[in-house]
Amino acid sequence: MNLKIETDPSAAECGGPVAKRRSLLSFEEAVAAAIGAAVPSVGTETVSLIGSLGRVLAEDVIACAALPRFDHSAMDGFAVSVDDFVGTGPWILEVSSRVAAGDVVEHTSRFSMQATEIYTGGELPDGCNAVVIWERCSALGHGRVLVSSKPKLVDNIRRRGEDVSPGATVVSAGSLVTPHVAALLAALGSATVTVRPKIRAAVLTTGNELLPPGEQLGPGQIYDSNRHMVAGLLAAPWIDFVDLGMIGDDPTAIQEAIGTAAKSLDVLITSGGMSFGAADHVSTAMAAAGGSVDVLNVAMRPGKPAMIGRIGGCLFIGLPGNPMAAAVALAMIGMPAIKATAGIADRRTIWASAVAEFDCFKREGRTEFVPVAVEGRDGELPVLSLLGRGSSGSLLPMARATGVAMLRADTDAIRRGDIVSFHRL
Ligand code: AMP
Ligand code: MG
Repeated sequence: MNLKIETDPSAAECGGPVAKRRSLLSFEEAVAAAIGAAVPSVGTETVSLIGSLGRVLAEDVIACAALPRFDHSAMDGFAVSVDDFVGTGPWILEVSSRVAAGDVVEHTSRFSMQATEIYTGGELPDGCNAVVIWERCSALGHGRVLVSSKPKLVDNIRRRGEDVSPGATVVSAGSLVTPHVAALLAALGSATVTVRPKIRAAVLTTGNELLPPGEQLGPGQIYDSNRHMVAGLLAAPWIDFVDLGMIGDDPTAIQEAIGTAAKSLDVLITSGGMSFGAADHVSTAMAAAGGSVDVLNVAMRPGKPAMIGRIGGCLFIGLPGNPMAAAVALAMIGMPAIKATAGIADRRTIWASAVAEFDCFKREGRTEFVPVAVEGRDGELPVLSLLGRGSSGSLLPMARATGVAMLRADTDAIRRGDIVSFHRL
């Protein structure tokens, strides 16, 4: 499909909206279109290993060493050679040395029927090829130990390189530095990490009715929920979040705010004012500010379209004002494009199978997203209850939800016991 953002310069000249309504896209096509509008940020930054947590790796990580770095014991016990265990035991061995983690091992020649007292992490002395755990041995005094069962080759030994071979690509560019990636990088000795720069992403909420919590509401006014929801969804170490506050339904003010903000941003998210009513000015303001937008007319529910576009070097995501619709549009369509901008390779939303503990009817041909709570398990699978499915303006169901269930486009009903896709929030 064509992922290009369509613009209509003639419409921009006469001040009309440049946003074009596309033919109905499937949810998957809408995600692809949003990702297609993203331009990955450029440049790299070198940060400390701790400072790299949650950031996006700019380069593949090639292992410069083997892990483990040397053969060592996985248990406390006695390092032995299995060749000494001939016949039927028990066997008595002479304890000739002792090695704990961090000790320097003298790899002197070892004689038969000798054992080394060894502790977890202790380097394996030359000539030893198994560790008999402490519990299987009896100390006899006078430096002797009795072993009653025959050890097997490499019992309780961690071999050099069994985890990581030197030269292997262990983490790819575009991966996030998770706590476990950081642990791996530390084991390889990386004190610094080359990451992509944080992307600057901002939110601007629009609406004459909006007030920040803490102020006194007048008639017809409501508090601004969406700015807080977007701030939460963008709270990530790879994002520099910018709060642009709220703005009224004033086309000139919106145009100025968008035009100025976009110059220093990688991503601009707006909420509200993106339909085509008298008080909806976001798409015209985008055009007047020199941007282009594409209304993603998506066969999904909550069904208000998201807008995706570009203004200069900045990705634009226009969310509907209704909170549930805004949350779904940002999480399901906007986030993959934001991740693409940040250079994150894996932009997929993770879906797992779950059992619906509810009946619900829907329109065939439309993918639906509903807030759900995990109520228990049915064998391996979580069991989900439905948390309201009414208004895209509601807030409570999402606030209570463990996650979101995706109800497939090719069905018109979900029956109790059906398998649905579940995304944990
Ligand atoms: P709009 O998309 O601007 O037409 O708004 C749709 C509905 O969402 C209206 O009821 C608005 O009052 C409401 N709304 C718009 N912006 C917000 C916001 N930031 N927080 C909560 N509700 C909002
Ligand atoms: Mg509005």
